[in-house]
Amino acid sequence: MQHIPDAMTGVTLPGNSTVEFREYPVPVPGHGQVLIAMKASSICGSDIRAIYREHLGKGPEGYQNVIAGHEPCGQVVRVGPGCKRFHEGDRAVIYHISGCGVCDECKHGYMISCRSEHRAAYGWQRDGGHAAFLLAEENTLVKLPDSLTYVDGALCACGYGTAYEALRRMQVSGQDKLLVTGLGPVGLAAAQLGRALGATEVIGTDISSSRRALAVDLGLVDHALPADDATLDAIMDLTGGWGCEASIDCSGAASARLLALQGTRDWGRCAYVGEGGEVTFEVSKYLIHKQITLYGSWVTSLKHLEELVERLDRWGIHPDVTCTERLPLREAAEAYRIAADGQTGKVAIVFE
Ligand SMILES: [Zn+2]
Ligand SMILES: [Zn+2]
Repeated sequence: MQHIPDAMTGVTLPGNSTVEFREYPVPVPGHGQVLIAMKASSICGSDIRAIYREHLGKGPEGYQNVIAGHEPCGQVVRVGPGCKRFHEGDRAVIYHISGCGVCDECKHGYMISCRSEHRAAYGWQRDGGHAAFLLAEENTLVKLPDSLTYVDGALCACGYGTAYEALRRMQVSGQDKLLVTGLGPVGLAAAQLGRALGATEVIGTDISSSRRALAVDLGLVDHALPADDATLDAIMDLTGGWGCEASIDCSGAASARLLALQGTRDWGRCAYVGEGGEVTFEVSKYLIHKQITLYGSWVTSLKHLEELVERLDRWGIHPDVTCTERLPLREAAEAYRIAADGQTGKVAIVFE
C-alpha cells in the first residue's frame, strides 16, 4: 500500500488573476468514494473565463472557493467501503461532475445537466484536481486505457469530451469537410477528433498566429486561416464554393460563431461549444434558407467519455500532443498566467 501523507497543498482561485496555495488534510474516502493520487490536472477555458479573472459563474458555474481544477486524471490509491469496480492502482479519468444520480439527466450519464442541489462539479463546488490528492465518487470514474497517458486522460475530462460530444452529435464522418472556428485547446481537440472520425479536410480559423501555427505544426488541420474579413471567401475557395458539411465554433466569439454558420454548406450541421457572450445573425439568410441544423452542446456524458477514451486507444492518437505547457503544482500561478494569455496549446499541471 502506498504511503499517504496527512496533509497536502491545494490551489484556489481568488478571482483577481492570482492563485492561492492553502494547506488541506488529505481526505479519507467514505462509502462509494475513492482517493486519487493526481497525475495531471489541466486548465480549461472555463476556469479562466468564469473563475480566474473574476468569479462570474452562477449555478453550475458558481465557484465555491474549493480546490480548483476540473480536468483531473490520476491513480486510485485508496478505496472506500462499498466500491464496486475500481481498485488501488487503477488509472482513472474523472468525469468532472458528480450528479444526484437519480434524475433523468444523471440516469443518461449527463451529470453536467443535473439540476439537483446535490450536483457538484470538481473544481467548482467540490475540491478539484489542483492538489496531490482528490476525493472522488467511484461513479464518476472512467478507466484510462494503458495506451493513454495521464495528460491524455486529463484533457478528455472536459475539453476533448466537449469536442467529441459535439462531433458525435453532428455525426461527423468521411462524408464531411470540417470547419473549426477557434483553435484554442477545444478547437485543436475538435480538429484532431474530426479527422479521426473521417473528415476528409479540416479547416481551422483563429485570430492568433501562434495558435494557427501550432495547429498546422501538429498536423491537426489542413488549413489554418487568419480570422478576418477575407476568411469566408478563403473557406469557399477551399470547398469548391460550397462551404463545409460540418462546422464547430470553439471560440465563443460572436464573429467566429457567425463565420461557422456562414462557412457551413447548405443542409449542413453547425455546433456551438465555445462558451459565453452573444451572437446576432440574419436568421433567414444564414440558418433557415441554408437548411442548417444548429446544435448547442455542453460538455459530454459519462458514457461518451468512456467511449472517447476507448476510441482514442483504438485510433492510436494522443490528445497530449496539444498540451504544450506542463508545470508542477508549485508553479500554478505561472500555469494560469500562460493559460489566460491564450497564445499556447493546452496548459496542464503535472505531478511527479
Ligand atoms: Zn471545462
Ligand atoms: Zn441528477
